[in-house]
Amino acid sequence: MPELPEVEAVRRGVEERLVGKILTEVRVREPRLRRPVPLLASWVGRRLLRVERRGKYLLWRFDGGTLLVHLGMSGRIAFVAPDVPPGRHDHLDFLFAETLLRYTDPRRFGLVEPLDAAAERTLEARLGLEPWDERLTPAWARAKVQGRRRAVKEVLLAGDVVVGAGNIYACEALFLAGIPPGRPAESLDEGDWARLIAALRAVFEAAIAAGGTTLRDHRTVEGKGGEYRGRLAVYGREGEPCPRCATPVRRVTQGGRGTFFCPSCQRSG
Ligand SMILES: [Zn+2]
Repeated sequence: MPELPEVEAVRRGVEERLVGKILTEVRVREPRLRRPVPLLASWVGRRLLRVERRGKYLLWRFDGGTLLVHLGMSGRIAFVAPDVPPGRHDHLDFLFAETLLRYTDPRRFGLVEPLDAAAERTLEARLGLEPWDERLTPAWARAKVQGRRRAVKEVLLAGDVVVGAGNIYACEALFLAGIPPGRPAESLDEGDWARLIAALRAVFEAAIAAGGTTLRDHRTVEGKGGEYRGRLAVYGREGEPCPRCATPVRRVTQGGRGTFFCPSCQRSG
């Protein structure tokens, strides 16, 4: 599932090639994504002003409106040559003159839809802060989780305190911060939050620089795999030695998802 670094890699790639260009055609071959893709004919002729990212959402700012794009579980967006025939999971094409941007999504959990101001406020109200937001302080995060008896990893995945982490980067950040994934979030003190916020920023920054992590579906818009996979410390490494202390990495199931951690480096208290 694309997490913040993978979405950011896509954002940068789309912005680099398409800002200032005019959308000349949209082809919708399969509108049945997580929600039906509406008619997009009225978007033809609009100029793309910039591409923003909020959490794992992309906001394509055109003159006169915003398109919301979410990659869901398995979505990807890539530039392809205009004469490449679409495959079975290539549901949408966006043409900007000679440049073809193709949306592919085998599981169809993604979203492509207009985002008006009211819908943007609703989205914003649901999302936590960006990892680099100055308002994300240890004291703020600590206050935000009081009274909620969720494990810290669940809080990261929920994205309502800080956005961007899915299973991979939640595991990696908790490892870097030395915090057990199952620890109740409300038990973290400000020092723990300071380490966790710093760890999230560090893993995201390193992963963005590497173009994200490719386990299966993720590609950059230029069709390359992200190169962060080889740098994962614990995720997907059950039984392998912890890179810090050589204790075998453990895997447990938490909220139905595999959680990887070092039982020695990530101890409570
Ligand atoms: Zn360790």
